[in-house]
Amino acid sequence: MVKITIAKSAGFCFGVKRAIDLAQDIASKNSDVYTFGPLIHNPQEVARLEKENIKVIEDYSKIEKGVLVLRTHGIPLDIYENLSKKENIKIVDAACPFVKKAQDIIKELSKDSEQIVIVGEKKHPEVVALVSYGKGKCLVVEDKNDVKNVKKTDIIYIVSQTTQSPKKFEEIVNEISKISQVKVFNTICRATFDRQSAAAKLAKEVDVMIVIGGKNSGNTTRLYQICSNITKTYHIEDVDEIKPAWFDKVESVGITAGASTPDWIIENIKRRIKEITNC
Ligand code: SF4
Repeated sequence: MVKITIAKSAGFCFGVKRAIDLAQDIASKNSDVYTFGPLIHNPQEVARLEKENIKVIEDYSKIEKGVLVLRTHGIPLDIYENLSKKENIKIVDAACPFVKKAQDIIKELSKDSEQIVIVGEKKHPEVVALVSYGKGKCLVVEDKNDVKNVKKTDIIYIVSQTTQSPKKFEEIVNEISKISQVKVFNTICRATFDRQSAAAKLAKEVDVMIVIGGKNSGNTTRLYQICSNITKTYHIEDVDEIKPAWFDKVESVGITAGASTPDWIIENIKRRIKEITNC
């Protein structure tokens, strides 16, 4: 009999739950409700929200009135300021408080420091927004190769994307410490840390790991990377992607899910694996 275990910490985090509750509450009281880009990085949950009349728009100039809910990762400062000037659009900021904390730190540091290093993915919307708070002083370091771009200054300030792997963050901080004195702001959120350590622990105990979450989700991708370094791992968004062959001669399966993966997707996938493995 195949043993299926869900990681102790998996799926929706505090920030995502809060954003979805906010959007649903607003949609229950207003007719024109939009989110600026996907509210969270999970296409299936975003599609479900669309059925509740919460529409995604990428270009806010196309709406004339209504309520615009801002995503959990935050948006660039200049766009935020532009939006705030629009009289017929009410802004509801659903940015996660942990993301806001990182934004505030960068904003404060930008007043006096010469250089702020953000450890994160250059193209991720959270990082793009974080950079906008740094008045041109931010340098994004994605991996050790980017450390060569860090300038030698008296103190190098280092902030993290909230969903970075703590191990990778530490490695990059150690590399930068060889250049100059550093002051580190570890802005990795607890939810990320909990999900990553629970996933790593479970991956050591099972034959196969299934990581569920948006292919565009940074924290899900990190879970996949962590687990695939330990055991055979598959990253899927939804139940249709599961292949029965993955479970041939397998005795134990672990499941984890990114912070923007709803429980209903996790349960669907667990049910499907049970069907395939007859347990
Ligand atoms: S992963 Fe962390 S920072 Fe991102 S939304 Fe969730 S709680 Fe907030």
